[in-house]
Amino acid sequence: MAPEAYAFLSGKQVPLADARVGVMTHALHYGTSVFEGIRGNWNEKHGKSYIFRLREHYERLHRGASILRMELSYSADEMCQITVDLLERCGYREDVYIRPIAFKSQELIANLRLHEVQDDFCVIIIPFGDYIDGENPIRCQTSSWRRPEDTMLPTGVKITGLYTTSILAKTEAIAAGYDEAILLNNDGTVSEGSGENLFMVRDGRISTPSETDNCLLGITRDSIIVLAREELGIEVEQRRIHRSELYLADEVFLTGTAAHVTPMGELDNRKIGSGRTGPVTAKLQEAYFDAVVGNNEKYMDWCTAVVPGGG
Ligand code: PMP
Repeated sequence: MAPEAYAFLSGKQVPLADARVGVMTHALHYGTSVFEGIRGNWNEKHGKSYIFRLREHYERLHRGASILRMELSYSADEMCQITVDLLERCGYREDVYIRPIAFKSQELIANLRLHEVQDDFCVIIIPFGDYIDGENPIRCQTSSWRRPEDTMLPTGVKITGLYTTSILAKTEAIAAGYDEAILLNNDGTVSEGSGENLFMVRDGRISTPSETDNCLLGITRDSIIVLAREELGIEVEQRRIHRSELYLADEVFLTGTAAHVTPMGELDNRKIGSGRTGPVTAKLQEAYFDAVVGNNEKYMDWCTAVVPGGG
């Protein structure tokens, strides 16, 4: 039987087609929601999907929800269970993208406040392949849009309103013939991609912008920091990075749930290193792919196994 699309909304599983919100919803008007992007990776040999770092995603969602003064009905553990049950029911035997969203659900407009506005929680699951072609290094453009500063909008969590900037930047890059946008901070230092964190390799050292450089605290970023330490014996430096350092790097790569580990071949029409996937990027890509599909025993703690139909 073909898998069916279900969502979780207002406390129950419903067919995706019936998961609807009204036009007066607070979050629709004001960006008052916080979301996650999670991958379920199908392992054909095991006959299972592995959801990657599910609990960490819900911990981040809860951090964002607390900033937005949400009162959610579910703990992170309960959200994990809701997600596992939903994926079992959908029965997909392929890679999926899981999109939870906690939002100010009350139909209340002309009301600029967070308190005394009801919240709801929704999970959507869709089949999902490649977001960016990970085989070939991509061409990037430094965006004319700057990454919002944490003084403007909290940047370490996935607050919906932040994504207007990401979307402006990505649209600009694509229209100019590039694959992805790199956003700088207001002071001109490097923050991240439109939907990815950024790492730079130079003389065997790996660096990434730090938490105070307004980047999202990415779960792939954290996984790469662990894999670099465990698999390559390299401690990633978290520090401010100048734009011109990227031009001079041996390798630059982007990381994200959707983008995995994506090598950057070119930035602003300058080749990065050889322009091809560098050796450090390639090793981390391989280690990451093994970990996310449940092929490395050492990182099974990162994987939540789901059998289609419940099994
Ligand atoms: N930065 C931004 C702006 C993002 O949207 C994402 C994707 N969630 C990332 C970085 C990477 O985060 P993660 O590895 O948790 O997917």
